[in-house]
Amino acid sequence: MTVERAAELLSAARKGVAFTGAGASAESGIPTFRGVGGLWTKYDPVKVSSIDSFMRDPTAYWMVSKERGAIALAARPNPGHLALVALEAAGFLVAIVTQNTDGLHQASGSRHVVEVHGSSRTVQCLDCGIRESRAVVQARLAVQMPPQCKSCGGTHLKPSVVLFGEPMPVAAMHEALALAQSADVMLVVGSSLVVHPAADIPLAAVRSGATLIIVNAEPTPFDSLADVVIHGRAGEVLPAILSLLNA
Ligand code: NAD
Ligand code: ZN
Repeated sequence: MTVERAAELLSAARKGVAFTGAGASAESGIPTFRGVGGLWTKYDPVKVSSIDSFMRDPTAYWMVSKERGAIALAARPNPGHLALVALEAAGFLVAIVTQNTDGLHQASGSRHVVEVHGSSRTVQCLDCGIRESRAVVQARLAVQMPPQCKSCGGTHLKPSVVLFGEPMPVAAMHEALALAQSADVMLVVGSSLVVHPAADIPLAAVRSGATLIIVNAEPTPFDSLADVVIHGRAGEVLPAILSLLNA
């Protein structure tokens, strides 16, 4: 039984690390990019989410972000996030490396969270560098499109996330790879594992000898490397693993 095996592996972990993707927040109501119902069935990612197109046309980016940002800001942690909090508190995990930018791991109470794609909770002006909270900028969208910098009036206000064509944050990537290389169990949750270099993180763990557990709604390219693959919803599978560990 896969849930049982996952619990067994985590119970023996001395340094378990979780790696989460958009699927971990799907049950909080935030759409994933890929997969059934994913956003990329609606938008062209290169047009909407690359730094080049953002610089050329911030309005197109913010038109999509107007809807998405509001959903993400209103989202609340789901039972999968809460199970990860409990796994960390009980010592089965030492950290969560996330590709998500929604801040829901921190909001749910996870202590050691490494964001490798940045955070959509803040916005930075690329013209003068000043930062503002996303909620404040989001509120301006109703009357201002694209939003303007309150300090310099510039129109290149960008959520502090990594867009296609942008470098990864060096310190976060360094910490994530170090965690992966020293992990003995790597628990992947809700990631299609096709976005690189982020997907290199679980791969680094496997190469360093970690056991790999994958919890995802659909197959991933790393399934054949995993000791346990559970195709299911994070908000159901993670609490099931946790209850076996608590039993
Ligand atoms: P992805 O969108 O590429 O893939 C998500 C995966 O989650 C899919 O394979 C899907 O089958 C699976 N999934 C969907 N619902 C699930 C559920 N309830 N339980 C378990 N699995 C489920 O996501 P990704 O691999 O994280 O990569 C896309 C990039 O887009 C990320 O790097 C991230 O930066 C960004 N993103 C972030 C958010 C967010 O912050 N919530 C949302 C969308 C995209
Ligand atoms: Zn500015």
